[in-house]
Amino acid sequence: MKRVLITGAAGFLGSHLADRFLLEGYNVIAVDNLITGSSENISNLQEDGRLSFINHDISKPLYIEEELDGVLHFASPASPVDYLDLPIQTLKVGSLGTHNMLGLSLAKSARFLLASTSEVYGDPEVHPQPEGYCGQVDPVGLRGVYDEAKRFAEAMTMAYHRYHGLETRIVRIFNTYGPRMRPEDGRVVSNFIVQALRGEPLTIYGDGSQTRSFCYVDDEIEGIFRLFNSNRTEPTNIGNPDEYTIVELADLIIEEIGSDSEIESLPLPEGDPNVRQPDISVAMEVLDWEAITPLRDGLKKTIPYFKNLVESMDARARTLAD
Ligand code: UDP
Repeated sequence: MKRVLITGAAGFLGSHLADRFLLEGYNVIAVDNLITGSSENISNLQEDGRLSFINHDISKPLYIEEELDGVLHFASPASPVDYLDLPIQTLKVGSLGTHNMLGLSLAKSARFLLASTSEVYGDPEVHPQPEGYCGQVDPVGLRGVYDEAKRFAEAMTMAYHRYHGLETRIVRIFNTYGPRMRPEDGRVVSNFIVQALRGEPLTIYGDGSQTRSFCYVDDEIEGIFRLFNSNRTEPTNIGNPDEYTIVELADLIIEEIGSDSEIESLPLPEGDPNVRQPDISVAMEVLDWEAITPLRDGLKKTIPYFKNLVESMDARARTLAD
């Protein structure tokens, strides 16, 4: 039976990827140090018997006895709030962690897939962003800790491919949302849903005219799975090109939840990209993939997850207060 190792497997995307590989008949070794991931995301998968969990910080070397067919490197703080809180860990997991996982892949002759990001384009001057665009990133800006770690990770991955002939894949992931995002991770979709469910004001940073393009998690995982199984070595954008301003997103979430929340304006964080939209021509051509879930449908699948979570969190807080 085939086996893959997934780093960051207790995180949002890593845990959905573990689901998918189990579904496809693989054994999965799930690695996470749980600094932003949660073991609850994979606790039901562990009952399966084909998933084993290792609590490990992959910025330190990891030795595995079993044979591996693939290493999918998804470990990293990934929301701006998290990587600004954990700047050194973010730089270490993107650099040392990527090096360690490439070394493991090489030792096992396993295909390596790097979870990269649209953040490699920084605050883009080209819109939408094709893979050939080199980006506009400030290495010493606040977001540089994430952007440069991922840019280094891409360079290291290509070096292992070119120098060692390792089979490598690089996915550039654009804003993705869905169940298992952390309610407190600070990203816009989780923030707005939780705020709207609680009737609190939705916090719009800046004037809310900045744009993002939101991809539902099942679509993202399908694209990543196809890329893993393809022959494409160069970086590949996987995202939904459907672009919204942050104000439009807030309105949609308020409408879907039927909330009477108001809007609160807060300052725009430093380095916040003005626009973002993937050019997915390559994914369409090479992987025959495109996102199929409209934002409204994806929100309908995501809101019930947060509703349950918020209700149990609020109930727990009430019990503690009594
Ligand atoms: N944002 C916002 N209110 C929030 C959280 C985020 O207006 O409560 C904005 C943020 O300034 C950015 C966009 O939403 O322009 C997306 O932010 P997110 O943190 O989800 O991820 P990013 O795409 O910046 O990595």
